[in-house]
Amino acid sequence: MASFPQRLYDMKLTFEEKKGRYGLSSSMPHSLRKESHQFAKWSSAALQLDRGMRYRRPTQSTTIDKQRDCIAAYAGFLHNFMGIELKALGLRFYSHAHKFMAYISFLVARNAGQGHICKHISLARKVNAYLATLNPSPSSEDERHTKRLDDWLGVLEAQIFLAIPKAPRAALPSFDEVCHWAEVLSEEAFHRVKSEEAEFGRLTSWKGARMVQDAIIARLLIGTDLPPARSFCIKTSTHPDFLPDLSRCPDPGCRTPGCKGNRFILTENEAALGDEEPCDYFDYLCGEDEDPLPSYTVSFIYPHHKTARGDDTRTIRCTIPPNSILADLLALHILRGHEIMAPNEPALFVSGNPKRSSVPLRFSDARFGHYFKTLVDEGMRRGLLSSYIRATDARSIFVEEYMGRKGMEPGEWKRIWEYSA
Ligand SMILES: [Zn+2]
Repeated sequence: MASFPQRLYDMKLTFEEKKGRYGLSSSMPHSLRKESHQFAKWSSAALQLDRGMRYRRPTQSTTIDKQRDCIAAYAGFLHNFMGIELKALGLRFYSHAHKFMAYISFLVARNAGQGHICKHISLARKVNAYLATLNPSPSSEDERHTKRLDDWLGVLEAQIFLAIPKAPRAALPSFDEVCHWAEVLSEEAFHRVKSEEAEFGRLTSWKGARMVQDAIIARLLIGTDLPPARSFCIKTSTHPDFLPDLSRCPDPGCRTPGCKGNRFILTENEAALGDEEPCDYFDYLCGEDEDPLPSYTVSFIYPHHKTARGDDTRTIRCTIPPNSILADLLALHILRGHEIMAPNEPALFVSGNPKRSSVPLRFSDARFGHYFKTLVDEGMRRGLLSSYIRATDARSIFVEEYMGRKGMEPGEWKRIWEYSA
């Protein structure tokens, strides 16, 4: 493997080079943009046999966006640090082992985490698999080179994984702290609902409806009542009233005929016993406490609980813990809040502005990110949260707490999800 570099290059970077932005954003040249688009099409087509067994599954749209960012980053490095002219940039630089190794060395010098670097290497392997398909009649020499390049990248990926630590994470607030934050949001929402009920007979204002939704989203993500939901499920859930008229699954990548997508179901239970002693949450997750009989039941069904389909294609069904605050809030939102916020929008949860409430918006990734950030910023401003959390951090906080309390792998909580094909 004489032509392939065997070690990282020693990169001396200035402070600016270590911290500054280097990717191409809007300045990506047209030719590279077009090539990336072709590559994205090849990656995401349902049927594209020359992807071979390794890449047999189509890439999801969110991953395609991330791949585009990675390409823009490598192209920016080539332009800014390797002196490649913008119009000369192209995907073929992924097959240039020395330049790619220089890029990996650059990332290591910038103290990038293991996951971040490995993401670039696995993309390089995929791009090279794609580039090989563009050659209609490869010589045996070409084929040998493609194979050696892929082997070399494979070893690089494996060794980076072993040698480079994960990116250090900022200290996250404790589980108790985030739960307290969600409790405050919930109490304030109930307080608002009660005062509107006293004054107008029922929940009436956009602000009140939004407070209920805020509390639900915080509780679902943090896992105050159930193991944390993925934000993907929150973004894509449909309101039960809209299910009968749903002509197709809202998930653009869904190929299951008749699928109704992620959804919530509300059923009333006449044989309810009324108020029950609340059970210990963590005992409940472990199956050490019986479920009390609820006055109504809120369940969710998630056929699509992960963005990246394929790892787990089973449907999750779950009943929200009966008589829980989450069940009460959800019933309020399903029966009343949603109608105030978004009467014609099938999505159960929506973004939007009280001042421009005529435009309720289905959550996109960006809108959801903004929504949650606003909620967290407000929590920090009020001193309820000591540091910033992203939606995905909520899950890490929960896992740590669960392990600490029960001393077992979080997989155990899956007993409360019901799986079906
Ligand atoms: Zn579906």
